Amino acid sequence: MNKLIIANWKMNPLTPHDAKVLYEVEYKGAVGVQGVTTVLCSPTCYLAMLAEEDPPSEQHHVMRGAQNMFWEEEGAYTGETSPVMLTACGVRYVIIGHSERRNYLKETDETIQKKINAALQHNLIPIFCVGETATEKAQGETHAVLERQIRDGLSGIEEIADSETQRRIVVAYEPRWAIGTGTPETAEDTVQVIRFLKTLVSEYSAFSFTFIYGGSLNDENARMYLGESEIEGALVGGASLDAEKFERIIRIASEV
Ligand code: PEP
Repeated sequence: MNKLIIANWKMNPLTPHDAKVLYEVEYKGAVGVQGVTTVLCSPTCYLAMLAEEDPPSEQHHVMRGAQNMFWEEEGAYTGETSPVMLTACGVRYVIIGHSERRNYLKETDETIQKKINAALQHNLIPIFCVGETATEKAQGETHAVLERQIRDGLSGIEEIADSETQRRIVVAYEPRWAIGTGTPETAEDTVQVIRFLKTLVSEYSAFSFTFIYGGSLNDENARMYLGESEIEGALVGGASLDAEKFERIIRIASEV
């Protein structure tokens, strides 16, 4: 079974030189690995530079991704990046609704919905992040939160599905309390949540969904998650900044 392994470098590394080095090493570690598609999501300011590197291709199973985008194509939107710009930089995937953006940038289900629609319209594959906070989990609200995020985030997509790429959506289950904390959700509970997410998206029959897990996944625990057929891949934050650890995760994904 093909697995999808996505690196989210977040706001790292600090220089173009270091970004280039990290990209080159991770690209080499991922290229040609059987049964794995790898996506490297760098900060926006490095995307054009990385587009000049070895061009990633579907054939090599290494793609470039962005960590965010705006929903309009161009205009007076200071500080934002358009889907057209991402496409021009050879980007194929874009993370949307990451919990750090929901938290620090106050992204809402409404703005996330606009971004998902815009991404699909521009043939970009959204990596749609959903997940509950620690309090919501403690209060037994996980399913209600996920249901709201999925229904709001995907609203309107049925109007778009014209081409094969416009029907591809990655849903990343990322419990907010598990991100960057060293405390991941268990693989068993992740499988249960993914089964629930599958029921939620069943009404979007024209679309092809890939369900992945993110939250303190590393080279030591990756096998537990990737060994589950329901978990089709991983969104890797901290561990993706260490090229050796990241390559080990890709190898594990290829073996399971
Ligand atoms: C993430 O940033 O999406 C993430 C899962 O981070 P980490 O792996 O560091 O928990």
